[in-house]
Amino acid sequence: MKIVKNIIYYGIIIFAIWFAWDTYTKTPCDRVIEYDISFDDRFRITENEFISFVERAEEPWEDAAGRELFRYVPGSAFKVNLIFSEEQALLYQGRYISVELESQQSGIDSLASRYQSVVRRYESVLKEYETQLKKYEQQVEYWNAQGGAPSEIYDQLQNDERILDAQFNEAENLRRNVNQLADENNNQIEDYNDGVSDYNNLFKDPKQFDAGNTDGTEINIYSYDGNQELMTLITHEFGHILGIDHVDDESSVMYYLLNNQNKGGVLKTADINGLNLSCRLK
Ligand SMILES: [Zn+2]
Repeated sequence: MKIVKNIIYYGIIIFAIWFAWDTYTKTPCDRVIEYDISFDDRFRITENEFISFVERAEEPWEDAAGRELFRYVPGSAFKVNLIFSEEQALLYQGRYISVELESQQSGIDSLASRYQSVVRRYESVLKEYETQLKKYEQQVEYWNAQGGAPSEIYDQLQNDERILDAQFNEAENLRRNVNQLADENNNQIEDYNDGVSDYNNLFKDPKQFDAGNTDGTEINIYSYDGNQELMTLITHEFGHILGIDHVDDESSVMYYLLNNQNKGGVLKTADINGLNLSCRLK
């Protein structure tokens, strides 16, 4: 019996040493992490698009490690969840308003150029009218000094007067048109400014929302602005799954915030160093 006990005893010790060694030498890169996804169709992408974005988000790490690290396998316990949030609704609303603002802006621009051309037309008609009026007044003054004009000159002056009246009316119409266009332009600019303040109000709360996170058993994505940003968020969370912590370099994918420098999802030296450390690749 003693021999059997000893065998069990040594067996347990050997197993414990093996297990500790195995745990110590295995890294997150030594196995392929299989995942499934969950999806919410309030997002403006299809489920298949989401799957393909998640698959593309694996690539930076897999390229850097030179091996497969993640694989989409429906039914896997590990989940990448796309969860519709209030923030996402705001982002969609913001995008709607900014499209609206762009079209208003082009309306304002085209109205402003119409306004400019009517103003030029008005100024030239007015100038011509004033020149002709001056000539007419000089003639009238001259003939009055002579004690009256001969009848053909008188007829000519009557005719000039009718032409002057017509020119005056044209100038007046143009002036009204100029004012009307100016009013219209002002109204459009007011509407535009209202839109800008609506847009700013949407994002006025400096609330720092969590666009994505992971607890090691699943990845949750709550909001994103554009497909590239979605992929970068997932690449970031995949990095955590590989055991990589946040890094200080703002342009790194593993920086704690998504920003203009890292949203392209390109791994930087700090990211690769994190991977090499976690997976003992070098
Ligand atoms: Zn993070």
